[in-house]
Amino acid sequence: MEDNYRHQGLRKKLIENIRHKGINNQAVLQAMEMVPRHFFFDSSFLEFAYDDKPFPIGAAQTISQPYTVAYQTLLLDVHKGDKILEVGTGSGYQACILAQMGAKVFTIERHKSLYQKAKTFLPTIGFGQIKVFYGDGFKGLPAFAPYDKILVTAAAPYVPVPLIEQLKTGGLLVLPLDEGDAQRMTVVRKLPEGELQMKEHGAFRFVPLLPDKSNE
Ligand code: SAH
Repeated sequence: MEDNYRHQGLRKKLIENIRHKGINNQAVLQAMEMVPRHFFFDSSFLEFAYDDKPFPIGAAQTISQPYTVAYQTLLLDVHKGDKILEVGTGSGYQACILAQMGAKVFTIERHKSLYQKAKTFLPTIGFGQIKVFYGDGFKGLPAFAPYDKILVTAAAPYVPVPLIEQLKTGGLLVLPLDEGDAQRMTVVRKLPEGELQMKEHGAFRFVPLLPDKSNE
């Protein structure tokens, strides 16, 4: 896949735009500058790849808005070597941003077609180290737990208990909470003795986390 000067220029502009919207974390912005977002788009839609907007990726799902990716990544406080579980692989873009920042990334997707696409596609763009799984993210991925951080990229109606269980003590869970049109971006910290500290960070809009495969 090609990443030419035009793509790079558009990406620089997008990053500037996100910076102006208030994301001033250099590590996050740098990772977003390194990962070509247009790789995750069908060639006929390339022109949309560097708009700060979500975009359909098939199976009635979307690649998250770049600002939202930046914001969730910021809240996750990613450090090199962090073991991170992402719920909702989608296009795989968010997983690549985390991997670009040096995290060990596990990601789970409930749509078989999206799972298969991400699993075969990510190694072709140099992100073969990301472990992609097919399954229900409400249950997490217990086989590889515990995680330093867990990121949910679809709207959760409540905090799923398995995700808390699979988090290390001191670890962070970032998730958009609530059903309906708007979600509260929420950061949950797991304290010693299993206590939870919750903080809210404004309203966002996500596709819902779906508990079973009934509408595939
Ligand atoms: N992180 C993605 C955007 C994800 S959109 C990206 O960077 O492109 C939300 C994704 O969550 C969709 O792909 C949807 O299929 C998936 N999803 C919804 N419910 C899920 C569940 N219970 N378990 C795992 N994935 C789920």
